[in-house]
Order: sequence, then structure tokens, then C-alpha cells
Amino acid sequence: MMTTTTETLYISYDHRSYAVTIERKAVKNITLRLYRHGTLKLSAAPDVPMPHLQDFLLRHSRRIFAALTRLQSMPQSPAITLQDGESLRLGGLPYTLSWCTGTQNRVKKSGHTVYMYLTDRQFSTRRRLYYRLLRREGECLFADSVRRMFPKFRDYAVSFPAVKQRRMHARWGSCLMPAGIITFNTYLAVMPPRLIDHVTVHEMCHLIHPDHSRRFYQVMTEIMPDWQERRKALSDYLPYCI
Ligand SMILES: [Zn+2]
Repeated sequence: MMTTTTETLYISYDHRSYAVTIERKAVKNITLRLYRHGTLKLSAAPDVPMPHLQDFLLRHSRRIFAALTRLQSMPQSPAITLQDGESLRLGGLPYTLSWCTGTQNRVKKSGHTVYMYLTDRQFSTRRRLYYRLLRREGECLFADSVRRMFPKFRDYAVSFPAVKQRRMHARWGSCLMPAGIITFNTYLAVMPPRLIDHVTVHEMCHLIHPDHSRRFYQVMTEIMPDWQERRKALSDYLPYCI
């Protein structure tokens, strides 16, 4: 579905939404460009009516989302491989990974170091421990974020949501209505609180508007005016989402 503001159109697909900047200039055809950092820009002559542009986007939405998905799947820097001495992120802060030999596989965080006690050096073992660590960190980070953001919704009569998490590959969060359950993507545990807050606010806005309508984005912008900038920054952490 699609909503309009004066110079931006929003297109939504699979629980994610994308802004399309409308550029009015003396061109013959409507053209859509996707830039490397994920910006969508649509150029059209000044006299092309907005519904016509919406229709254009709708007709090409499959191709647009395919291109966006391709772009998003290209990591900007190589993904981490959980090597001894490698730099990790937890809550947006850097930690150094340190391998230790252990009698059982376990992971712990101390100071600025993440210690992995390993019975073997298999990548699958390390990754399992990494997921365990993210899950543990996420529990505090996600609950804190909901506690921090909930008061911002006091004018909207929403109930305090239940918080869950799981690893997901196509979305940062989801909201189950009317049960009021917000599920965070466990990978968000690598991100700083201000980026987690963006996902929290997005999902909590779904407690008010289940869709990605214009009214949804109005509430979103009212509560978090810089949400677009925060959403963009999420992709900086993709190398840590292995
Ligand atoms: Zn949504």
C-alpha cells in the first residue's frame, strides 16, 4: 500500500517501508533511480499528477523491491567470522573477541572483551555461542528500549507490550495485534540503543495503526522526528548480523 506527503511517497512491502523522493523537473518520462545508499528518487514533469506517480510505483513495486533486496544483501564491509581478536559490537559498543580453551562451550563478556571458551574451533560452535551472547544482551537492551519509549505513547492509550525476540532475516521487528507482543530481531543486540529505539517506536506505532498508512507515519514522525536517519543507520551494523 502507499501513502502520500507533499514531496515524498512511501511504499511498503513485507513490513518494511521505503521513502521515495519526488523530484519535479522538465523530463519527458517518469524515471526512478535507486542509489547505492538505498535512496529512491523519482523524477517527473511538474504536470504529472500524484495519483499517476503512485500508480507508476505500484506497477513497478515488484522490481523495486527486488532491487532493494539485492542492494541490502550487499554488505558494505565483510561480515565478521568470529576469529580470535576480531572486533564485535554489543549495544553498538566495540568488544574484542578472545578464544580460550575450555572443557565446555560457553561465552561471557568482561570489560571490553568477549571470551569464548571452546571445546573445538568449529565456526558453527562459535556462531552458536555468538547467538547465545546476542540473545542474552538483547534481553536487557530490548526491554530497556520498550521501557524508555513507552512513556512517549502516553497520548495514544496503548498497553505496555510483551517483548519477545528471535533471529530474523527479513525484518527488524514485528508486532502481534491485538495480543500486544513485540518481537525484536535478536541481531539488533549489536546496535546502539538509539537504533533499537527506532524499531521499538515503529512496532509500538503498529499498536495504534496496524498498517503503514499515512497516519502511521504521522505518529512515527511525531514521536521520533529523526526516524528515517536512524533507520538508515541500521545497515551499518549488517556485518555483525551473521
Ligand atoms: Zn511496520
